[in-house]
Amino acid sequence: MDAPASTARDPALTTPLERLPGVGTARAQRLAKLGLVTVRDALLHFPREYRDFSGAHAVADLREGEHASLVGTVAAVDSRTTAAGRAMLTVTLDTGGGRVRAVWFNMPFLAKRFAAGMRVVVAGQPRRARAAWEFSHPDVRWLAAGEDAAGSDWLAVYPLAEGVQQSHVRLAVQAALDHAADAWPEAFPAGLLAAKGLLPIGRAIRDIHRPGARESIDAARRRFVYQELFMLQLALRMHRSRQRERHAAPALAVDSRLDGRIRARFAFEFTAAQKRVCAEIAADLARPEPMNRLVQGDVGSGKTAIAVYAMLATVGTTVKVPAAAGGEPQPLLGPDGKPERYQAALMAPTELLARQHAATLGRMLAGSGVEVQLLVGGQPAKRRERILARIAAGQVGIVVGTQALVSGQARFRHLAVVVIDEQHRFGVLQRAILQQGQAEPHTLVMTATPIPRTIAHAVYGDLDVSVLDEQPPGRRPVATYRVAAADLDRWWEFFRKKLREGRRGYVVVPAVEESSRGLASISSAFEELANGPLEAFRIGLVHGRLKPAAKDAVMEDFRTGRIDVIVATSVIEVGIDVPEATIMTILDAESFGLAQLHQLRGRVARGGVQGICGAVTAAADLPHPRVDAFVATTDGFALAEQDLLLRGPGDLVGTRQSGAPPLYLADLLRDGSIVAEARRDALDFFDRDPLLAAPAHAHLRRVILDRWGPTLGLGQIG
Ligand code: ADP
Ligand code: MG
Repeated sequence: MDAPASTARDPALTTPLERLPGVGTARAQRLAKLGLVTVRDALLHFPREYRDFSGAHAVADLREGEHASLVGTVAAVDSRTTAAGRAMLTVTLDTGGGRVRAVWFNMPFLAKRFAAGMRVVVAGQPRRARAAWEFSHPDVRWLAAGEDAAGSDWLAVYPLAEGVQQSHVRLAVQAALDHAADAWPEAFPAGLLAAKGLLPIGRAIRDIHRPGARESIDAARRRFVYQELFMLQLALRMHRSRQRERHAAPALAVDSRLDGRIRARFAFEFTAAQKRVCAEIAADLARPEPMNRLVQGDVGSGKTAIAVYAMLATVGTTVKVPAAAGGEPQPLLGPDGKPERYQAALMAPTELLARQHAATLGRMLAGSGVEVQLLVGGQPAKRRERILARIAAGQVGIVVGTQALVSGQARFRHLAVVVIDEQHRFGVLQRAILQQGQAEPHTLVMTATPIPRTIAHAVYGDLDVSVLDEQPPGRRPVATYRVAAADLDRWWEFFRKKLREGRRGYVVVPAVEESSRGLASISSAFEELANGPLEAFRIGLVHGRLKPAAKDAVMEDFRTGRIDVIVATSVIEVGIDVPEATIMTILDAESFGLAQLHQLRGRVARGGVQGICGAVTAAADLPHPRVDAFVATTDGFALAEQDLLLRGPGDLVGTRQSGAPPLYLADLLRDGSIVAEARRDALDFFDRDPLLAAPAHAHLRRVILDRWGPTLGLGQIG
């Protein structure tokens, strides 16, 4: 979608919502909670889904719980108070093919809006109640006399925030459409619209909010998805050509001597898959173009070793500069007279994981002369400044930290390789993260979540994918059980028996980390366990609000065996690696996502001992799709697919802040062909007009620079 700066110029789009007819100050204040302040904001607030409101169903079509809409004539209106003291409104409708009831509780004022003989459309999920179908709190459309309901109609359903009602949002969006749908500037040249059969922007905005038919929703969505992907691809392509022109990445040659020295630092032999991926990386590093590689490997497949390999190759390489009189490049000597070396950065999603990685690297590199430093929140300012200075001077070989810190603060002397670990969600444009003017580093992104290649391309640009499709030898799938709350005593008995046999274990508790209520809930869970089933054991508590040093101390005690059990929130979900921990209890398993459950279970799949995981759910006999899938398979790739199906359009591709319609992963999967098409078209487009210099492309160029320029450093183009 269009960028703020270019639409800000149009007064119709910047009109405050409160000035629109029917919105008013009070509603506008509520809408602001959703970030909806101007007409532009409302037009960009895209529906989450649509409900059929065409009235096309007949009583005979109704299915329990399946959305339907029917036209009916009001036959009776009954307003009364239930025994429990609630106002209950029942409207009986005659549909021609039988009667249905619509029922509302605690909305007595609604009674006034119905009278016998009126024609209405009701839409919702019917339920069989006694002999009749009943709609509880349905959506209603009142038909004017003689109005034909048969024209298909879809009702937009918007994302909401607390205290903001669906009807408020609908009203504001409709008013905004009437005010300014045609004011939106068209970014695409007419030729492109025609060639691709895309709706013009005004029509697309209108149809996305107020669709006439199913097909118009699809066409409008297609326009926005195409636009978003096309622009992103074009921006990435422009970025890439700039990088090619201006900066070269350092070429790091990993010869067999260096390769041997690196491998000798590992306590284990690489799996065949690890060897293959390391060779792919070494080939990338040898070229003077930035590597942009994604490593996909299931939980436990040994991605850390890959990261370490790439980083050791980096710090094992000396920086060379061209010799003054031509001839062989010469090593660059530092102030101490020693050759300077390249630097690497490893970014982790959590501080806990960053600390663990730093510790692993520290152990592996003991006595090597390579300095490893940790950069995380909560370090004293003095200390952090000292580390930053040593990074800038090139003394630190490897920096490990949380993404925000490393990318936000560190300035490197010879940064050559950046590794981004466990980037579960699609981040936007990882490759641009650490760009610091001079050379662009090689980038390696590691993830346990498989991403189809077309989508990876769409989101990351030209990206190479390596797959770690092998687990280290001796691994056995974690034996996973679903434990009904009623069987919890027996489960704890089993858990204790395993601890007495020498295992260490985790108990995972869901908690809203941010709120103090979340903290209370995990603390009380801890107390209950410490005074109840796990009374006889040494247990520690880890959660997101714990001070890093305290968290560290607990993890260290666990690692060394001074603690038997860690009670934790999902902060341990990602990457934590204590091989002796081989049994886990996940409480309230229903409240975790499938990918999260699988990551959690990965914590006990480490050693040679069979890992065990109990997923505790409240109801014993009810099917629970997520937990059942989790118990049924330990194949992370299969689970990730399931997850997408079950979750629907959940995870988005990180474009939310940009004022664009969010791109959902599931949408991208469904729209795979648009993804590929937009990419091809953008590349062609670029070949024809790389600077977007043609007058017909002026608006497109402005939109792209507004939107992606700052992230991608496109500012100086043209
Ligand atoms: P993930 O892919 O989930 O990040 P890790 O890199 O944390 O997995 O590795 C999981 C465990 O497997 C670690 O304890 C690591 O030391 C071990 N490991 C990795 N590669 C091998 C290997 N080739 N042989 C034996 N153990 C290995
Ligand atoms: Mg890992």
